[in-house]
Amino acid sequence: MTKILCVEDNPQNMRLVRKILKHEGYEVIEAEDGLSGVALAKSEHPDLILMDINLPDIDGLEATQRIKAVDELQQVPVIALTANAMYGDEERILDAGCDGYLSKPVGRARLIEAIEKYLAEAAEKAAASVDTGAGDPPGAVETPEASEAERGN
Ligand code: MN
Repeated sequence: MTKILCVEDNPQNMRLVRKILKHEGYEVIEAEDGLSGVALAKSEHPDLILMDINLPDIDGLEATQRIKAVDELQQVPVIALTANAMYGDEERILDAGCDGYLSKPVGRARLIEAIEKYLAEAAEKAAASVDTGAGDPPGAVETPEASEAERGN
């Protein structure tokens, strides 16, 4: 089962994201602040992380930097969730090591589309690192199901 860590301090947002993810069949683990998000990432090794930026302790960018500094977690995609993104925010977010970002409010379609995209990219990178003899990273991502288009529907 693909495991997604959601770091979010707003209970309503958390409830919404949890509902969407569980409905899609993902396992959801949750942290309400940055430091417990980092700790959970280390102990649970999720396949993907959804990271709120405004958190009560360290912000989502700092949390992402700490997560990306851990060797085994470097390849885990982090998608930042931003309230009212402003000019220059994208650069700050990507500089911090986030793989991408979504502006809130995040609807089901956009969220699932982004998650599938980043999981697929991570799976490709993992496969490539096997080819080069770099070894299979722990917690390698399952191959996502073929899209509707690929199935010829
Ligand atoms: Mn927040």
